[in-house]
Amino acid sequence: MTSPIWHPFHQHGLGEPIPRVVRAEGAVLHLADGGTLIDGISSWWVTTHGHCHPRIAAAIAEQAGRLDQLIFAGYTHEPAEEVARGLIDLAPRAAGRDPLTHVFYSDSGSTAVEVALKMALGYWHNLALDGLAPPRHRILVLEHGYHGDTIGTMSVGERGVYNQAWSPLLFDVGTIPFPAPGREQRTLDSLEAACAAPEKPAAFIVEPLILGAGGMLIYPAHVLRDMAAICARHDVLFIADEVMTGWGRTGTLFACEQAGVVPDIMAVAKGITGGAIPLAATLATARIFDAHKSTDRARLFYHSSSYTANAIACAAAAANLAIWREEDVPGRIANLSDGIAARLARLADRPAFAHARQLGAIAAIDLNAPDAGYLSDLAPRLRAFFLARGLLLRPLGNTIYLMPPYCLDTDQLDQVFAVLADAGERFG
Ligand code: PLP
Repeated sequence: MTSPIWHPFHQHGLGEPIPRVVRAEGAVLHLADGGTLIDGISSWWVTTHGHCHPRIAAAIAEQAGRLDQLIFAGYTHEPAEEVARGLIDLAPRAAGRDPLTHVFYSDSGSTAVEVALKMALGYWHNLALDGLAPPRHRILVLEHGYHGDTIGTMSVGERGVYNQAWSPLLFDVGTIPFPAPGREQRTLDSLEAACAAPEKPAAFIVEPLILGAGGMLIYPAHVLRDMAAICARHDVLFIADEVMTGWGRTGTLFACEQAGVVPDIMAVAKGITGGAIPLAATLATARIFDAHKSTDRARLFYHSSSYTANAIACAAAAANLAIWREEDVPGRIANLSDGIAARLARLADRPAFAHARQLGAIAAIDLNAPDAGYLSDLAPRLRAFFLARGLLLRPLGNTIYLMPPYCLDTDQLDQVFAVLADAGERFG
């Protein structure tokens, strides 16, 4: 029987199999046909502590029986308050920088970034209303960035296959070249020039330390620090998109910590609930919030969605925060990172592979394959190969990457790397 479902980022015309998953536990997905898969990418980078974590599952069940959903325009509930306090507590901070003090909820990484962009533009709009600054509309972005699939977030992402169908609708941005090894100064000079240009930018948005969907491209912490410093010097708002990097993926809770950077606005999502249920948040400093706070209704922040701060999702996030507070999650991530590093080094020696790279619990390696462009059939063939070998991976072109749940054990890690080595033999 054919299914009526239209899947995201899936070319139905290729006839690829669509595995049906009936149950999940830890790092393992159980299939309807009785097989299992190791979830090598945390089900699109969201599952941090493992699937169906008992503490998170219990919190969801308990909250679902108490208060499920509440209009959030002018109403509040304890799980949302608790998570907001927790986020502010855990957010990056540094001497001499305004701390992040306010939390705006939404429900996906794209909406968290969309909200971040609207906050930045709203800030300058409201300052202009008071005659305190000229309006600013220009957003600076980093080459190869990815921030989501709404019209606004596509506008600040790399233009290409992902968004070419909608290109006439996307707004213009200023693109700063990616700080490739040896080219870091070019990035900083370009950002400095763009910030000093007569048309002052409203904000600069970056994925801190590693660009995800753009190819798992890593850049050094000192570049992130210098980029944030340039923005601060020119009073250009610095937006950190921690949607992928947050919740320990890069080795610290948030990637910005490794550079001592406190952004003006920070978007978080994915692992905020441990990956169990959708929720997102955009954190802002007091000056962003204060620019919207007034007795004038025209200045309020016009953004909402029906499920803003859904109580069940917030309860899951509260459980996630408790896990971070009470369990040795950093230790687990460090162990996993060490395990990945040792195995990745062996893989990197093989002629089939190039450009092995790792940041915390994220690892990537490029397959030396002919015709490995993004639209080639290499990625679907690799997906099928991995599926047949009991592994869920979704390469980006010829880039194979891992972003597993932190509970992945040594045996599972060995299995994953054995399959990767075989993939090198077969496709490299
Ligand atoms: N920002 C970054 C850096 C991402 O990696 C993603 C998704 O992968 C998003 C935003 C969009 O998040 P979502 O898919 O939850 O809308």
